[in-house]
Amino acid sequence: MRARVAWRCLLVLLATAASTLARADWMQRTEAIMGTRCYVELWADDPLKGNDAIDAVMAELRRIDDLMSHYKPESELSAINQHANERPVQVDKELFDLIKLSTHYSQITEGAFDITYASVGYLYDYRRRIHPSEEQIKQALPAVNWRNMLLDEQHHTVRFEHPGMRIDLGGIGKGYAVDRGIEILKARGIDRALVTAGGDSRIIGDRNGRPWLVAIRHPDNPNKVVTRIPLSDSAMSTSGDYERYFDEDGVRYHHIIDPRTGHSASKVRSATILAPTATQTDGMSKTAFVLGAEKALEIINRMPEYDAVFVLPDGKVLYSNGLRPAAPRPPGAQSSPTAATPRVPP
Ligand code: ADP
Ligand code: MG
Repeated sequence: MRARVAWRCLLVLLATAASTLARADWMQRTEAIMGTRCYVELWADDPLKGNDAIDAVMAELRRIDDLMSHYKPESELSAINQHANERPVQVDKELFDLIKLSTHYSQITEGAFDITYASVGYLYDYRRRIHPSEEQIKQALPAVNWRNMLLDEQHHTVRFEHPGMRIDLGGIGKGYAVDRGIEILKARGIDRALVTAGGDSRIIGDRNGRPWLVAIRHPDNPNKVVTRIPLSDSAMSTSGDYERYFDEDGVRYHHIIDPRTGHSASKVRSATILAPTATQTDGMSKTAFVLGAEKALEIINRMPEYDAVFVLPDGKVLYSNGLRPAAPRPPGAQSSPTAATPRVPP
């Protein structure tokens, strides 16, 4: 009798487990938000909960876009650009904090990352193939300097101290939004997911026991992969000169601007950064792009949380120390499978 009850309990348990397993699956969705492709993929035990979680992430991306878009005249960022030349403009603490964090990146990169790049950047229109003349750049360039942005911590106000200044968060806002999306998923108990906005992605967990393999595309051919990076519990951002651009007389005018010259940066074709959060990787990918591989690697190889991959104008691919195959060991040293395995598959 007791044996029969035990069998029945076991069968009920097995049936429950089987139905849960049948429903648990990867779910994904793509939406156009922040002027780019946003993508969420997650492992959900329950499709309804998974769907709700994706809804919540997409809503968060839209909320951040409403706050920070320079395309939307009603956004707080637009209010700063309209009025901060005349008076301090008070903004939401969240926006204030991100602007402040941007100045931290400017500080550690000696101004290679600078949201006031927009004082010149707005003179470019890639869709309409418009770029500023040398004379226009010369006039606008003195307004590019993050140090001329006065931030009042107490009142959350922003004031520009130089005429003609503008800011733009296109170089950090998507990374920030991805991090917010990941926080939302974590709070809902989701432990395996990918959130992407444009060139910025972050992953929690792994993909069924293996890392995700994230591709870095060839700068001239979107269907060709130059390398794949294994990732779990990490963020990755790529900045490339092939995203928003036009070519004229052999010059590529694209959306990453060197704040020191007002021209599109041209030392590399793409710069990819890996770090724990997408806010970090997004901020540092512009920096790496502007500084070029040599200078950027000097900085990145000193920062243990960061790694980088560059595609150079001649097609060569350069890796930071943390991604390079382990150096050959001296003869007689004991072999270990991990030491001999490159972190980056060919
Ligand atoms: P995505 O927009 O796909 O995430 P990136 O991360 O490469 O692409 O960001 C490019 C954006 O960064 C540009 O469109 C512009 O808004 C901004 N940007 C360009 N140059 C700089 C710079 N020197 N410092 C800060 N932001 C920049
Ligand atoms: Mg980005």
